[in-house]
Amino acid sequence: MSNQRREVRNIIEPQPVLEGAGVRLKRSIATPTLDNLDPFLLFDHFGSTDPADYIKGFPMHPHRGIETVTYMIQGVVNHKDSIGNAGSIRSGDVQWMTSGGGIMHEEMPQPGQDEMIGFQLWINLPARLKMCPPRYQNLLADQIPRVTRADGVEIRVIAGTVDKVRGPVTEIEADPTYLDINVPPNGEFEHPVEKSHTAFAYVFEGRGLFDSQGAPIPVDHPRLLEFGDGDHVAVKTTEQHVRFLLVSGKPLNEPIARYGPFVMNTQEEIQQALADLRNGTFVK
Ligand code: MN
Repeated sequence: MSNQRREVRNIIEPQPVLEGAGVRLKRSIATPTLDNLDPFLLFDHFGSTDPADYIKGFPMHPHRGIETVTYMIQGVVNHKDSIGNAGSIRSGDVQWMTSGGGIMHEEMPQPGQDEMIGFQLWINLPARLKMCPPRYQNLLADQIPRVTRADGVEIRVIAGTVDKVRGPVTEIEADPTYLDINVPPNGEFEHPVEKSHTAFAYVFEGRGLFDSQGAPIPVDHPRLLEFGDGDHVAVKTTEQHVRFLLVSGKPLNEPIARYGPFVMNTQEEIQQALADLRNGTFVK
């Protein structure tokens, strides 16, 4: 395809975290060992067959300075927010939320399915956009194109382009790629990734072989893989299939000041967010 394959630089084991009002999830970015993968600030995987693990949800809370991307594989999350949106994120749907200067919202997983499986990614906004008006892109499962190749590889294209099929999420500052890729047994997949972009994969089903230090190594789910430099990523499978997210985006190289749901450039801006919350001036 091209000449420099991105090798796995770091394999991250998701850490158990209790978040929101008491939701058990697995966190791979925003942990004591990995604060961020610029421009990606957080990556959470919620997956449970026990509603007690998620039913308390994420009651009304603020965000400022970031984008949050929720992708449901299975299950339903009800949401509503301070700019008048309300609805459900269902299996296969994506909610791409740009908090900008301030949004209040709640995200409440609903019981009633065998298993809840979903992901939330936070993407940083550059300084000049941190206080922009909030924006939603809500995408239903049937609005997300699915590429099925002759070799059986199946790719849901949320953002970015695969085989000339472009994902519906556009006009995002990080110029992101967000793909959900299923490679059947004894298969392979390659995808170009912009040289200057940060890239990671999140393996959430099966096992894939990814190159590391010149040789393929097996990676079992769940693991987050940080890729090094290069112009494409590649994976192979043997007797098992693999399903993983492939995410890339343009790094900001700006200072990060973070406090819970706020990510700004300076501590003063964090203090301002807290003051705005106290004063009732958070939502513009
Ligand atoms: Mn939130």
